[in-house]
Amino acid sequence: TTETTTAITFADLNLSEDVMRAVTEMGFTAPSPIQAQGIPPVMEGYDVIGQAQTGTGKTAAFGIPALERIDLTSNAVQVLVLCPTRELAVQVSEEIGRLAKYKRGLRIEAIYGGDSIERQIRSLKRGVHIVVGTPGRVMDHMQRRTLDFGSVSMMVLDEADEMLDMGFREDIESILAEMPEERQTILFSATMSKPIMSITKRFLNDPVLIKVVRNELTNTNIEQVCYEVKPQAKLEVMTRLIDMYNLKSLLVFCNTKRKVDEIVEQLQVRGYASEGIHGDLRQQQRTNVMSKFKAGTTTILVATDVAARGIDVSGLDAVINYDIPLDEEYYVHRIGRTGRAGMSGKAFSLVARDEKFRLRQIEGYTKVKIEKGVIPSYEDIVG
Ligand code: ADP
Ligand code: MG
Repeated sequence: TTETTTAITFADLNLSEDVMRAVTEMGFTAPSPIQAQGIPPVMEGYDVIGQAQTGTGKTAAFGIPALERIDLTSNAVQVLVLCPTRELAVQVSEEIGRLAKYKRGLRIEAIYGGDSIERQIRSLKRGVHIVVGTPGRVMDHMQRRTLDFGSVSMMVLDEADEMLDMGFREDIESILAEMPEERQTILFSATMSKPIMSITKRFLNDPVLIKVVRNELTNTNIEQVCYEVKPQAKLEVMTRLIDMYNLKSLLVFCNTKRKVDEIVEQLQVRGYASEGIHGDLRQQQRTNVMSKFKAGTTTILVATDVAARGIDVSGLDAVINYDIPLDEEYYVHRIGRTGRAGMSGKAFSLVARDEKFRLRQIEGYTKVKIEKGVIPSYEDIVG
């Protein structure tokens, strides 16, 4: 499909040898559509608005051109990327770090709240070329004058819709206002709302608009099934699904932090290696939870929408909606975590009676019918 393959190759994109080598090592055989369409105008210096869903490879779409532009003879910050959450800032800086493997001397720093600001200040003083940060902490550094933006030539707003949803609009506008006039601005967003359009009008200069359209909002590699269950039976049904499909790596979504804690506890009691992630955890705890999940020590990660924003975990077997999200866009974001890069994935939704109308709204929004599944019986599991 046009989804995962395109006629354009990385060799067509005029990349430097070191970036080409890293891309090949990372196993990227062909650019994704957003990369194929986005890399050329970004490399040419145009402002770009990119609209594409999670998991379409947006990081490399701006990360590769960013790397190609850095002047390593200077120690100044030349690229600033803003992301909505700490996890995303770390993830994006790591992905750019992998792309930069053969760019000797290139320094990237993730700047986010919850991490020691003194440590960040020391690191910034040593010289950093690319800063990837959350708006709040970047503002903090700006006010302390520990970040000098005088040499920034490229500014990226990653997951702009999420940043606005999280209330970062003022911070973003203040940061943009501090940037050198002569700069390139790139904005990525899964959705294009009015506030986003107003930001692009104010801060982007004659932007190129790139839209990766899909027939359906949701990836067709994802098998979507719903199970109608009583609320008190959700845990039982979920564990049956986990056992029957032998799920080894899955993300479970709940609508509240309290529910996350409750489900984690009940899963642990039943002997499942499960941990939760939500906004009440300290940064160090969140980092630990994520690394254990990525290493496979934990098989079930239970999360709230906010905590899981944009998190990229490769090789997820399934996403389970323990609660049906209140917002249909969240559904798309949630299930987009599985079935990435052409692999198949499962998205199971546990639907109580009072959640059925929400599922119908989701179907209306995604234009995809979610099939009704049969709850596995005890015999299905024991064989
Ligand atoms: P987005 O920001 O659109 O959600 P990411 O940039 O996080 O997407 O990429 C999602 C995953 O796909 C990452 O694991 C990334 O390494 C991988 N990826 C990106 N581009 C390619 C490509 N051209 N080929 C294969 N995998 C890719
Ligand atoms: Mg991203």
